[in-house]
Amino acid sequence: MREPKPGRKPGIGGTAAGRIVAEDPASYELPDFSALGEGPYPPILLEAFERAGDNFARWGEQVAHAGYCCRPIRIKGHVEQVDRATGEVRTTYTTKGEPDDTLLVACGTRRASKCRSCSTWYQWDAFHLVRAGLQGGKGLDASVVDHPKLFVTLTAPSFGAVHVRRVKGSKVLPCRPRDKDKRCPHGRPVGCSVRHAEGEPTLGTPICPDCFDYDGQVVWNAMAPKLWARFRTYLPRELAAAVGMSHKRLDALVKIRMVKVGEYQRRGAIHFHAIVRLDAAPPEGDPNAVAPPPPGFSLGQLEVVVRAARESVYVECAELAVLGRTDTRLRWGGEIDVRAIRGGGPGELSNEAVAAYVAKYATKFSEALGLPQRPVEDDDDIDALEAPEHVKRLVWAAVVLGGRDELAGLKLREHAHGLGFGGHFLTKSRAYSTTMGALRRVRREHVRRQLAGDQGVVLDAWGRPEDDGLVEIRKSWRYTGWGYLSHGEAWMASTAAARARERRQLAREELDCAA
Ligand SMILES: [Zn+2]
Ligand SMILES: [Zn+2]
Ligand SMILES: [Zn+2]
Repeated sequence: MREPKPGRKPGIGGTAAGRIVAEDPASYELPDFSALGEGPYPPILLEAFERAGDNFARWGEQVAHAGYCCRPIRIKGHVEQVDRATGEVRTTYTTKGEPDDTLLVACGTRRASKCRSCSTWYQWDAFHLVRAGLQGGKGLDASVVDHPKLFVTLTAPSFGAVHVRRVKGSKVLPCRPRDKDKRCPHGRPVGCSVRHAEGEPTLGTPICPDCFDYDGQVVWNAMAPKLWARFRTYLPRELAAAVGMSHKRLDALVKIRMVKVGEYQRRGAIHFHAIVRLDAAPPEGDPNAVAPPPPGFSLGQLEVVVRAARESVYVECAELAVLGRTDTRLRWGGEIDVRAIRGGGPGELSNEAVAAYVAKYATKFSEALGLPQRPVEDDDDIDALEAPEHVKRLVWAAVVLGGRDELAGLKLREHAHGLGFGGHFLTKSRAYSTTMGALRRVRREHVRRQLAGDQGVVLDAWGRPEDDGLVEIRKSWRYTGWGYLSHGEAWMASTAAARARERRQLAREELDCAA
């Protein structure tokens, strides 16, 4: 077999050197096989033959069980069961005898550019998690559908004029109408009369890059999680003020629960979409209980309160003084979008639409802008990025500011690949709905039961129901690398994945027809 190319160090545990090839099977430029005749065959085909001739059926099963992962984690080891009463040990699984004596495990990434298969699962889970919090399910009562709920978008302030597509009705308006002769200190026109088309690469880029406040924007991105935390703290206080009661009294009556996702705007500023839901305060001893708020709390009230909190909240950022700024307070931008989520009457924002919107960003969070997918280690990498000039300048701003001791607290160097932002893509109140972990556990359990056969009872190594807890399970795994062993293998895995996607699509269409 051809020696696999040396790969980058894997991101897991950092133990053994990964033997990865074929990170992106979608990018293969395959030859026209039908034109090959008697050969000579290209290496990829020879590799595929080799895989096909070596325990292929079991290998295919493993690929399917790993969810058709594009870069599965490779492990060796075994599972043993110990009888708690007698101490007898039986091996229930070993990778010896598996193809390459290896078990393939899904990488589980949420990044679409890393693994199309696993990121689809992540997206699916994000959708179900969000939707359950809107209409019930996954352990949440369906009455949640009647709680006051808002879909809120909070944006960053302006750091300089950028090209925008402005639309009024069906008419596209000029980008930034200004006096034609008016120039900025750098001699550039301050306006732009172009009616920009959708998807134009100039959109979101500054009218004058030298006027644009790159430093200000990366600092804001770095502080955005703090500003969000402050917003969350202030919401109940504003609500207490609105209904004229003490914070303590309010806390005993209602709870505001949320799920929030971050998204980069074209200009490279982070902004947040949040679902804000009003629940009754949970009874003592059951902090995750969800029930409708008591009468007297309305959707209208919640909306007023969200707007008030947006307006009043700020975080003090001493680092701005270091940069010579007189105003050291960071706030939200003036743009706010607040919409009621009512479930799905005509013209209303439906649960599905909101959940799909949030899930869509789950896997594209930092990829749309062409941001680097890992911390910037070498400054030379920045200019080589396949990203717009504006984005590169933002990365540079973060790297340069990140090198200053007085600004170390902002961790701009570490988060330069996030344009300063180092927060999580998705955060939520614990009691909003289920968790990603719980959804994954349910799926694993489902697979376990399916494998157990008709009765759905998983038996231990002595033939007794495993749920009886008569055995202790000991797992011993050794990580040996990730990815497929050859391009031929990766290509076959991606072909199988494509077939599985087709089957799912067909099944869905048949369901639609039957409905
Ligand atoms: Zn994967
Ligand atoms: Zn413009
Ligand atoms: Zn300028």
